[in-house]
Amino acid sequence: MTEQPCQCADCQRFYKEHDRLIREFPTFKQQQELNWASIQSFRTLCSKVSTELQRRLTERESNEDINAEDKHISDIEISEALDELESVNAYLYSIEALMERIFDTKISNNIESKFKEIANELAPDPLNIDRLILNRLFHQTPDFPDKKNFS
Ligand SMILES: [Zn+2]
Repeated sequence: MTEQPCQCADCQRFYKEHDRLIREFPTFKQQQELNWASIQSFRTLCSKVSTELQRRLTERESNEDINAEDKHISDIEISEALDELESVNAYLYSIEALMERIFDTKISNNIESKFKEIANELAPDPLNIDRLILNRLFHQTPDFPDKKNFS
């Protein structure tokens, strides 16, 4: 059974990005490092934003007279975002723990050559089936934000 790959803007962006990451990081070790850095940067950014929002909320509680630049974000909006970000940080922390396990794996140079060889075969192909399977997850998750907003 052959399914026609979705060609919406989100999916096309995904295909392009997916292939770029294989092309530019074609070894097991590079993928380990890339994914580790990616999770860490996501976590760093989420934590910093959480800390900043928490600080604002605390300031507002102790000070009725909030300044103008602050007013465009409501207390409810901040509280809701803090709850969401708390969950996200917990998930990212779990992923990080799993990534550490993946980091324990070492691959020999011979196998790394195989990785490069396969990467070379995969990345130029705009319709490779593995990517389509991955993207189905990305695209068809019912509560994916884009779906919520645009469908
Ligand atoms: Zn799509």
